Amino acid sequence: MRIGSGFDVHAFGPGDHVMLGGVRIAHTAGLMAHSDGDVVLHALADALLGAIAGGDIGLIFPDTDPAWRGADSRALLRQVAGLVAGKGYRVLNCDVTVLAQAPRIGPHREAMRGNIAADLGIETALVSVKATTTEGLGFVGRAEGIAAQASVLLAAAGAGAR
Ligand code: MG
Repeated sequence: MRIGSGFDVHAFGPGDHVMLGGVRIAHTAGLMAHSDGDVVLHALADALLGAIAGGDIGLIFPDTDPAWRGADSRALLRQVAGLVAGKGYRVLNCDVTVLAQAPRIGPHREAMRGNIAADLGIETALVSVKATTTEGLGFVGRAEGIAAQASVLLAAAGAGAR
């Protein structure tokens, strides 16, 4: 088995929505990024890459490459999932925590789980999405941005039962 962790932050900027877990959520600000700024999927992709010691998404999708400008992070995640499969591993489960003062994540949790499960090719029951505020503390609490952290567990494909 292989374990991986990931972390990502994007700052709020002008806009009327954020993308989180592949879900478009109306908000009073957007997230500034080279891609669509989806911290949930970026943290998850980095966790997957971490588990296979495959670098990070900055290495694989450099922000100097115009190909990734405004990129759909679900496409990035699917590409990373392909790298994991190519290394001979499958995802046993993943767990993401969103750190945000706003918007509220709860109403969108199931949609995010469904998107992630589809992109990883696993059952929704294996995908956890959680959220917390930081009680007004720090950059998240001041609503300067959104952070996400993720953990994944992989097993060699074909090995063992769940
Ligand atoms: Mg990012």
